[in-house]
Amino acid sequence: MKKLIEKIVTKPGQPGMVGDGFRVFNYIPGADISKRRISPFLLLDFNAEYDFGPSDHIRGVDVHPHKGFETVTIAYKGSIAHHDSGGNSGVINAGDVQWMTAGEGILHKEYHEETFSKTGGPFEMVQLWVNLPKKDKSTPAHYQELKAAGMGKVELADQVGTVNVIAGNFNGVAGPAETYTPVNLFDIKLTEGGELTTSIDAGHNTGLLVINGSVLVNGEIAGEHSFVLFENEGEEIHIKANQKSVVLLMSGAPIDEPIVSYGPFVMNTQEEIHQAIDDFNSGKFGILN
Ligand code: MN
Repeated sequence: MKKLIEKIVTKPGQPGMVGDGFRVFNYIPGADISKRRISPFLLLDFNAEYDFGPSDHIRGVDVHPHKGFETVTIAYKGSIAHHDSGGNSGVINAGDVQWMTAGEGILHKEYHEETFSKTGGPFEMVQLWVNLPKKDKSTPAHYQELKAAGMGKVELADQVGTVNVIAGNFNGVAGPAETYTPVNLFDIKLTEGGELTTSIDAGHNTGLLVINGSVLVNGEIAGEHSFVLFENEGEEIHIKANQKSVVLLMSGAPIDEPIVSYGPFVMNTQEEIHQAIDDFNSGKFGILN
C-alpha cells in the first residue's frame, strides 16, 4: 500500500543565522512539525544554496555544547569543518556527512573550511538532530565521518539517478552510519523524468525534503524546498522527478519517551536538563579552544 501523505509544507518564512556561517530555514519544529510527531528527528535546519562571499575571517559557529542526542550534518555544496572536545576533527564536502553522537556531552565548533571561507562560493547543507533513547543518552560522545565514497551506492536502472544510502537500508543496500534506533537517511539524485520506488515501515515517522528541483511524491507535487510529511500508514514511496532533482528522504522508529529540551541539551526530564547545565558549567564536557 502507498504511504499516505499528511501534509506538504513550503519553505518556512525567513532564514535564521546560526553563528555567521549557516543561513538556515528551520523545518523541524519550525514548519509546525513537532519533535514528538517526527521523532526521532528533533530538528531540521536547511541552508538552501547561498553564497556568503569571500571572508577574511572563518565563518561558522564557535565552541558550544551538545548532550543527549546526535547532530548529523550533510554537505551538498561547499566545505564544512568540525572540531570537538573528544579530539575529533574533519572536513566534509559534497556528499559527505558528519555524524556526531553527543551522548553524555561534548563541545564542538562547526565552520566553513578555511580556504572555502576565504574564497566563498555556493554553500548548501542540512543539519538534522537525531534523538537518543533514554538508555543511550549517556553513551560516551563519539564521531563518525562518513565520506561520499563510503555510502551505500544504488545506481538506478537506465541511469535515471543514484541513491547514496547514509543510514539504514534502501531496497537491500545498507548505509554506513551506526545508529542507536532504526533510522533511514537517503541522499537521492534523479534526472528529469527519473523515478524510483522504495518501501519504509508504516510505523516509522517519515519525511522528505526537496533540496533542489521538483518531484511528484506518490502522485502529489512537492516543489523546490518543500517538505513532505507522511502519515504512519502504508509503506510504499514513489518519487518521480519533474526536473533534475535532489531529495533527502528520512525516516525513523519513534522514540516513545518524554522530550525535555533546553537549547543544545535534549533529555527526558527537567532534572536531567539542570544536571546537564551543571555538568557543562563544571567542565565535564571537556576542553576545546
Ligand atoms: Mn553544534
